[in-house]
Amino acid sequence: MEIYHMSDIVSLLGLPYPPQGRTSYYIPCPCCDDKPRAKHLNINLQKDVFRCPRCGVYGGVFALYSLYTGVPVDKVRDVLNERLGTSVQTEKAKQKLEVPAIQEYPITDIDTRHATYEALLSLLTLAPDHRDNLLGRGLSQRDIDRLGYKTTPVVGTTAIAKQLQSQGHYLAGIPGFYRNESDNWVFVHERRGILIPVRNKDGLIQGLQIRRDNVNRRKFRWVSSAERKDGCKAEGWPHLAGPVRSVLVLTEGPMKADVIHALSGLAVLAVPGVNALTQLRSTLAELRDEGLTEIKTAFDMDFFTNCHVQNGYNSLLALLDEMGFQYGTYVWDPRYKGLDDYIWEHCLQRKRPK
Ligand SMILES: [Zn+2]
Repeated sequence: MEIYHMSDIVSLLGLPYPPQGRTSYYIPCPCCDDKPRAKHLNINLQKDVFRCPRCGVYGGVFALYSLYTGVPVDKVRDVLNERLGTSVQTEKAKQKLEVPAIQEYPITDIDTRHATYEALLSLLTLAPDHRDNLLGRGLSQRDIDRLGYKTTPVVGTTAIAKQLQSQGHYLAGIPGFYRNESDNWVFVHERRGILIPVRNKDGLIQGLQIRRDNVNRRKFRWVSSAERKDGCKAEGWPHLAGPVRSVLVLTEGPMKADVIHALSGLAVLAVPGVNALTQLRSTLAELRDEGLTEIKTAFDMDFFTNCHVQNGYNSLLALLDEMGFQYGTYVWDPRYKGLDDYIWEHCLQRKRPK
């Protein structure tokens, strides 16, 4: 039986090729990108998968072909056998798209990640504009210190890695760290922004997200060193703000969860997206063991306008149902984008001194 790769489909459908040396790249999403230069669909040639973080469409080689041609997924193999069947043609397609192999580290355990990330954050500071931004969302000075938000390092990323190593911290298998051409460890140089620790129920740091300055799209990104020498990819970890309680609010994004918790005192769990449910199931199972029985979903009001997101939300509710949780939805004034904005405007702004 023929084995097909993403590179075959990309050639066959005439989709854009990756920039030189890259195996993961973005092209316009056929489902949700309506603006001329928008590119949300990620294609990963090394892993033979695609995914749009905006609308949530994802899949493998056959699903990509199906998405563009309308051929049902279970018929794609036959169609490809017909179109690409001879090995000569497949070889040709492969030659056009040489996929370089990059050695990445598998992710290390959470205790090690937590220790390294804590040490990293302790070397960094929070810039005044970032502090003002967080205060403006309703976090207090004390909240900000407790949460450990910092400004991304813009220089000295090699020196930082060196210092962490000299303190005895592990860097291999920790998303964000990789080796440069001289084989020295480096922390990724990212666009300036706020580093947000993403924590588990015990407060341990799973990974870091960045809220990037001055961007409108994909504002929040994981700190990751995927596709770098000895790098490591971040996973879509959920984030718990507040102690485990019987009732939990479920929302999107760790910063939003931290703000809702700080403003309301509710326990809030952030999922990376309603289409990223893999890690959520195991997290919810752990929380259920500790007494969680009921979940209130509180996603932004503009979150359900897209069909793929709607499907994701339905899968989320199906998951909650299947796991035996009671669940309901927080509804608020739609003039406010998120529950955090609503609480801030209506309940707490006057009470809370900055
Ligand atoms: Zn999309």
